[in-house]
Amino acid sequence: MLIRCFRLKRIYCKVLLLLTVLATVCLLLYLRSKLPNSPVPSRLVSKENYPFEQKLLAWESKIIKGLGDEGEPAFLDGEDAIEGEKALKKYALNTVLSDRMPLDRKLRDPRNRKCKDLKYSPTIKASVIVIFYNELMSVILRTVWSVILQTPSHLLQEIILVDDCSTDENLKGLLDHYIATRLQNYNINVIRLKHRLGLIRARLQGAREATGDVLIFLDAHCEATKDWIEPLLSRIEEDHTAVLVPIIDVIEANNMGYSTNGDSSFQVGGFSWSGHFTWIDIQDENDKNKVTPIKSPTMAGGLFAINRNFFWDIGSYDEQMDGWGGENLEMSFRIWQCGGRLETVPCSRVGHIFRDFHPYSFPDDKDTHGINTARLAHVWMDDYKRLFFMHQPALENNPIVGDLTHRKQLRQKLRCQTFKWYLDNVYPEKFVPDENVSAYGQARTEFDMCLDDLQLPDDKVGPLGLYQCHQFLAVSQYFSLSRRGELRKENFCAEVFNKRDVQLTECHGHKREQYWILYKNGTVYNPATRKCLSSDGVEMGKGVKVERCRGGVFQRWVFTHVNATALPG
Ligand code: UDP
Ligand code: MN
Repeated sequence: MLIRCFRLKRIYCKVLLLLTVLATVCLLLYLRSKLPNSPVPSRLVSKENYPFEQKLLAWESKIIKGLGDEGEPAFLDGEDAIEGEKALKKYALNTVLSDRMPLDRKLRDPRNRKCKDLKYSPTIKASVIVIFYNELMSVILRTVWSVILQTPSHLLQEIILVDDCSTDENLKGLLDHYIATRLQNYNINVIRLKHRLGLIRARLQGAREATGDVLIFLDAHCEATKDWIEPLLSRIEEDHTAVLVPIIDVIEANNMGYSTNGDSSFQVGGFSWSGHFTWIDIQDENDKNKVTPIKSPTMAGGLFAINRNFFWDIGSYDEQMDGWGGENLEMSFRIWQCGGRLETVPCSRVGHIFRDFHPYSFPDDKDTHGINTARLAHVWMDDYKRLFFMHQPALENNPIVGDLTHRKQLRQKLRCQTFKWYLDNVYPEKFVPDENVSAYGQARTEFDMCLDDLQLPDDKVGPLGLYQCHQFLAVSQYFSLSRRGELRKENFCAEVFNKRDVQLTECHGHKREQYWILYKNGTVYNPATRKCLSSDGVEMGKGVKVERCRGGVFQRWVFTHVNATALPG
């Protein structure tokens, strides 16, 4: 064109060129004006990703500066507040609020004051792996930003995001565009799974791609806090078999407030015989205020750090576990039984949004938690699996549980300890309902009525009930009389209230109201009130009580199994 131009009259030619240049400049200026205050270098915005850029800018323009700073609970007004409430019901999370809150909000330092005096200088690097399925983009990105902002760059090898085949369109092009334009200076690798694999296999995919010395897994709705990574890496550098969990603080799903219990004690992981993870209070007074790593019998599963080679050596995950759940107890038992250690690191704290329900469903609506737990019970719990299968009898000999050959071989190869060893050495305070007890099973009256927990939820206090005895030994009617004199059901103990009512409540160890004596004649006596457990006048489905001891059929309880030599006459 230029050559031809020179052949034309020169003045026209110059005007034509000038006009072309002017038009191009105008077009560029127009495009720039559509991207007000764009933090993005214009070279990163092309015709293809222009719609994404517009969408991000529109979103970013609505972010409210300072909202949720220091981890303060935040509230919106008007229509946003109403929409937020609706979102909470639908997604178990106030998505409206999260979208308005800065992605790089600053949290206050939640650690125990004593942590600030400790100095760590790890020399190894972490790969942080975040898996997600249809999580809210702003929540994922806040997780990523918190890792970037709270981790010295020399300790961070990479961040790996594993998309477990989300169906939410925003999590594809828009997320990629965000990373390419706002996080382009950081090493972030997004893996897209072609099929939904469930969280266990999604984490495995992430681990396969990782190159850091240590793998740190985080759920996609977390926020790391000051100096979170240093104590984790230091401890693993010191002992490569230590698998570590930070203190997991609560980020409230409704207002995004970051809550801690200050400098007071924290909890470690336990489990219930129904195969669920539980939080347990630290028993030893000296350990309650500790700032160095402390033994934890199990872990919650979503957030932990492990040496990468050790992760593979010790059997990574059970790849045949589907969906969600069970993998955390499997890994916890395996780590302890096969030569590792599981510890909570009090000076590393990460917030996690605890949702009231899972905002996603699983293909085929399978009870993956139950099936996965049945797998781990068969492989790791030896005879103690009886206590799990009592809760899930339908899974005991069920082919749905799948083939276990490889996991059993792994246990042999690693020459792992027995589950009894684990209970004795790692979790001696765990109550075993049919060991070292003077009686256990159903506690039955002569009228075929049994003590029953009346389906009391795990975190509630409720009456010790009476119900028609079931034909089989159902969990709700399984009680033990411990050697310490507790009339007990896992973590619940029967306690006398108001000298009359009997409630199932937390076991206190030595509380007199929780102390019972079972006599050979079937009387269950409470010395604190000098009264006896009675079913007299109690309707089915109501709570039993204590009354003046006078013998007779209403005060006689026959346990399925009794260690008669352990009972007083
Ligand atoms: N997740 C996944 N695939 C699934 C289900 C969950 O990748 O099929 C992710 C989810 O997005 C989250 C992590 O796995 O980042 C743990 O799930 P969730 O937070 O729902 O479990 P919880 O914290 O309630 O145990
Ligand atoms: Mn989670």
